[in-house]
Amino acid sequence: MHEMTLCAAILDQLEEQARAQNFQHVKQLWLEIGALACVDAEALRFGFGLACRGTLAEGAIVHIEQTPGRGWCSLCQAEIPLNSLLDPCPGCASYGLQITPQADDNRHGNDLAVGGATPRYLTCSMIIEEGLRLSQLRRVVASMAETAVAAGVQIVTGDTKVVPRGSADKLFINTTGIGVIPAGISLGAHRARPGDAILVNGPVGDHGAAIVSARGELALDSTI
Ligand SMILES: [Zn+2]
Repeated sequence: MHEMTLCAAILDQLEEQARAQNFQHVKQLWLEIGALACVDAEALRFGFGLACRGTLAEGAIVHIEQTPGRGWCSLCQAEIPLNSLLDPCPGCASYGLQITPQADDNRHGNDLAVGGATPRYLTCSMIIEEGLRLSQLRRVVASMAETAVAAGVQIVTGDTKVVPRGSADKLFINTTGIGVIPAGISLGAHRARPGDAILVNGPVGDHGAAIVSARGELALDSTI
């Protein structure tokens, strides 16, 4: 759950500002989340409520403003709002858009952090549907590169496969992250104790159910 990584980063920033500006307590917090940031606002709010316990921000009221992403259309010569990296320009339907970097566009959390690891390397395999516009692919790649630089992660290997029209939903990206666990850190389900808070940020078991269903082991007919 990368929202928890973001919560930890927010608390780090608050503590840094508290030292710089000499305040002891945070009563209200305003956060802006960009539409291209892949952050679940409610998961962030819930996670922050837990992460801030015993810190300077305990009990703070969190205000979350969701803002659209922005892109530049070279045909319209205009900045346009974007809700997805695969959206065309609403003015001219062109896909030749450049993403405007935003300060809140930090997609740096990942599963490695949950295991206590510092993310270092990423693989990137792309399954591309025939007909995907090159400009769309360029945007996605540029955005990944930008995010990797911001997170201090290197994309070190990958592969591409092109599949016939209709065999994929434009673009599937498969990544694997490799991180380093610092000495003395040991996280895992075995550390859970009665009374611990458990965060659930999606339907429980849907991934396992989808795999079982796809393998046909249970002969289920479903749309998962
Ligand atoms: Zn346009």
